[in-house]
Amino acid sequence: MFIIAPLQPILSIQNISKSYGPVRALNGVSFDVPESSVFGILGPNGSGKTTMLGIILDVLVAAGGTYSWFGGIPHAEARRRIGSLLETPNFYHYLSGYDNLKINATIRQLKEDDRDRVLKQVGLLERKHSKFQTYSLGMKQRLAIGAALLGQPKVLVLDEPTNGLDPAGIAEIRDLIRTLHRQGITIIIASHLLDEVEKVCTHVAILKRGDLLVHGPVNEALRNEDVIEVRATDMHALEEALKQMAGISSTKISEGTLLLACEQGTGPVQVNEYCISKGIVLSHLLLKKKSLETKFMELTNN
Ligand code: ATP
Repeated sequence: MFIIAPLQPILSIQNISKSYGPVRALNGVSFDVPESSVFGILGPNGSGKTTMLGIILDVLVAAGGTYSWFGGIPHAEARRRIGSLLETPNFYHYLSGYDNLKINATIRQLKEDDRDRVLKQVGLLERKHSKFQTYSLGMKQRLAIGAALLGQPKVLVLDEPTNGLDPAGIAEIRDLIRTLHRQGITIIIASHLLDEVEKVCTHVAILKRGDLLVHGPVNEALRNEDVIEVRATDMHALEEALKQMAGISSTKISEGTLLLACEQGTGPVQVNEYCISKGIVLSHLLLKKKSLETKFMELTNN
């Protein structure tokens, strides 16, 4: 028998709090980032995403709580395994991407010159001697991610990596994130874009005004609950019958229609069969898919 040991979290955050004067930016937030995940910290503006990244990167000090990287290995060693991009580095416009990375590596006192490896990773090897000012916005952002990849980090932390890019630039960065993930790098991304998290992330933590709302694998945390509409001649008997049905998590009558919130595996077919078995003839049966946008808005606006 094979026993598969669960991967230890790359980052474990416990009960982190932070205030700026009267503003509570983070309110006892806890979650784990699994190894080899693309972990999205998702929330509207002001929800505490950047503050959280600042804390885990030692730029800000938490008021309470703890966090540990790589199962708690010594701090300086852990720090070397983390690449980050909180703000776009100040690249020199008149220098090439290659020379700009040299300056970045020198400032950070990186010993090994791995610029060619990094430029290949971000798809800029062929343009390495072109001046920075000739790069497209997407290429400039890829170079910035390249700078974060110098020194072969195991984890990459990115704050809103597609902000300010046009659709082509956004697609380039998302492709790059997927490629880096396939290469085994764990990536933590702060984003206010549901679409972004849905498209590139494996896991998510949703913040709202400093509170953690939900966290876990994207397909669980952002799971869509379908709603089924039904009508019959006797609405009261219909509701009483369907309240007893397994797979229906809640019922509500609205404007003469019974709305059913269904668990996974329960759909119109099961509802119809159940009603027939109870001798009820439906006059209306409709599946309404709730969009992820709706779910996200409900979570963050409620
Ligand atoms: P955004 O996407 O707009 O950057 P965010 O989710 O990253 O938002 P934070 O920047 O972490 O959120 O801000 C969380 C809260 O803390 C907000 O109410 C913000 O106004 C406040 N805040 C952040 N930095 C400071 C600061 N230096 N001084 C005072 N308040 C701050």
